[in-house]
Amino acid sequence: MKLLEGKVALITGATRGIGKGIAEVFAAHGAKIAFTFRSSDDAAKKMVEELPTEAIYFKADAASFEDTQRVVDETVKHFGQLDIIVNNAGITKDTLLLRMGVEQWQDVLDTNLNSVFFTTKAAMRTLLKQRSGSIINISSVVGLQGNAGQANYAASKAGIIGFTKSVAREIGSRGIRANVVAPGFIATEMTDQLPEKELASWLETIPLKRAGQAEDVANLCLFLASDMSTYITGQVMNVDGGMVMA
Ligand code: NAP
Repeated sequence: MKLLEGKVALITGATRGIGKGIAEVFAAHGAKIAFTFRSSDDAAKKMVEELPTEAIYFKADAASFEDTQRVVDETVKHFGQLDIIVNNAGITKDTLLLRMGVEQWQDVLDTNLNSVFFTTKAAMRTLLKQRSGSIINISSVVGLQGNAGQANYAASKAGIIGFTKSVAREIGSRGIRANVVAPGFIATEMTDQLPEKELASWLETIPLKRAGQAEDVANLCLFLASDMSTYITGQVMNVDGGMVMA
């Protein structure tokens, strides 16, 4: 059974890792895809060829409101609708607070948090007019419990949670849902950068004793994007192998 037949999804930062996994799972379930990236042009072209449904891409900086407005406008113009938004684009610039410069703070907040406001704001009129939509914002378990050396990242990911809950309350009456997905340790290029020792200590804290795959996150996003979850909004759901338990 295909869960997203007839739907259009916009996914930010989808040329690799979790975003790519989400695009693949959504397309396998029938969704048409619009996705963004900032620098990986070749990967974007390859993805469009490989995805089983129609897909378009935009080279657009998630941290720019102008870029984001263009992406949303052109997606709606091209497909005539927008049903699912996944705010996935994110970066890390880790360092201890003592060494953290204003730029390291600002870049991470701009890319990870402001971007979520930008996409949601840019799509608001379309979603309100349609009286439906599912917004899925990718946070992190680090946004729930903090992490030494990631004060900027943790603040951006915690901010996403407050933002999403507010949006869920504000536009739930119009049939639009907003939820947060909080991955734990997922094997992607982002986590590839971690030193061996840190990697081992992360794995130690995971009851399932393995790193997650992009597909693990994508499967939860699929559920939240689909009509299987029409009574679920304002929630934070972890995909973390049991790392953080409520
Ligand atoms: P990744 O492998 O580094 O991929 C990031 C993607 O985002 C790439 O396609 C990248 O493409 C794009 N991107 C980065 N900055 C962008 C910008 N300013 N505008 C548009 N696109 C941008 O990251 P990932 O591990 O898949 O992480 C995806 C999301 O999950 C992030 O929000 C991250 O914080 C979150 N997360 C990841 C983990 C994990 O363990 N991996 C855990 C918790 C949460 P370009 O390089 O071409 O820009």
